Amino acid sequence: MGRCLIIGCGGVASVAIHKCVQNSEVFDEICIASRTKSKCDALKAKLDGGKTKISTAKVDADNVDELIALINEFKPDVVLNLALPYQDLTIMDACLATKTNYVDTANYEPLDTAKFEYKWQWAYREKFKEAGITALLGSGFDPGVTGVFSAYALKHHFDEINYIDILDCNGGDHGYPFATNFNPEINIREVSAKGSYWEDGHWVETEPMEIKRVHYFEGVGEKDMYLLHHEEIESLALNIPGIKRIRFFMTFGQSYLTHLKCLENVGMTSIEPIDFEGHKIVPLQFLKAVLPDPASLGPRTVGKTHIGCIFRGKKDGKDKDYYLYNICDHQECYREVGSQAISYTTGVPAMIGAAMIITGKWNKPGVYNIEEFDPDPFMDELNKWGLPWQESFNPTLVD
Ligand code: NDP
Repeated sequence: MGRCLIIGCGGVASVAIHKCVQNSEVFDEICIASRTKSKCDALKAKLDGGKTKISTAKVDADNVDELIALINEFKPDVVLNLALPYQDLTIMDACLATKTNYVDTANYEPLDTAKFEYKWQWAYREKFKEAGITALLGSGFDPGVTGVFSAYALKHHFDEINYIDILDCNGGDHGYPFATNFNPEINIREVSAKGSYWEDGHWVETEPMEIKRVHYFEGVGEKDMYLLHHEEIESLALNIPGIKRIRFFMTFGQSYLTHLKCLENVGMTSIEPIDFEGHKIVPLQFLKAVLPDPASLGPRTVGKTHIGCIFRGKKDGKDKDYYLYNICDHQECYREVGSQAISYTTGVPAMIGAAMIITGKWNKPGVYNIEEFDPDPFMDELNKWGLPWQESFNPTLVD
């Protein structure tokens, strides 16, 4: 049916590429393009032989001209950006120049200010509309499935949603005292930033890890979870009418937090360059180099992830609670695609987002967050491609 150019060949991309190849009815042809071409070639060698034709290319996604040349050569229906958030704008520029649809999983973040927000990408709305192409922002799990869950809850279960609590629990154990489950630089920037939530029309800021709750997660057990800022709060606050409060909680074990505090205290999580033996180095980037590669965690990680959204609102004049969630098993993911569940829960929705565009199920020119599309076809695909969702009408609420 269509052609997809996938940029990046890390943990998330590897899962998305496995899934594109499984979904060969939609993905006739894919091109895997990244900075390190050998990784793309290794994945092609592993997956070649099915119905999806695979090619590879080397590209520096910070370079718009290189991207334009590659897009003009491969002529994809959609570019699936699975590089890092720093590349979002250059890839969007190349998509604009070539009138090609765009999908990503994380919003743009300037390299030198650990602050992620949608304003840079929302600034492309008119240009994408005029060019007649679609940009689908945030098609991972969170953001991604959490936005689809919100749109689905609003469409089928509520007249008005007033409260959303997004809960992200990783009950997996990789056996290392400290490692991050996805790109360490992105992960540590996210969790060492101040927390915030949306309430009554404005942001409320907290100190990092200031708000803690203990919550029971089906399939995992009781866990400590902490309030974080998270990017989908910004778009859901705009797109869910009647919303009063949106919070995001993520679980962390004590060992992770103790290591992180120590690394912070000695300056290892800083993104300010320092002089080291005549070179400039960024401590956080150096830390990334010494930590285990997230891709290597797959075989060692056991346990489950549990991610979901608790909704409170009104239906037919009555108060209503509703919970939508997914439970995913690290070892099952590893057996299927050779990755742990964090990459899996992001890579599957990334493939589905690209498939929504290729099949024309989601097609409106402009720049949109995922909850702005009809959630139903995406919800069906989640069940089909390995992330079945469950629902509860009597969830345990977070105070
Ligand atoms: P990885 O670090 O594993 O992979 C990133 C890939 O991008 C690598 O292959 C890297 O190449 C490539 N890359 C980086 N810079 C460039 C460049 N300038 N040009 C070309 N390729 C480049 O990251 P993950 O797979 O863990 O994460 C991918 C994305 O998914 C990130 O944006 C992350 O924020 C997002 N994410 C979203 C989640 C969600 O639920 N929405 C959850 C988890 C992640 P090389 O191999 O040479 O380093």
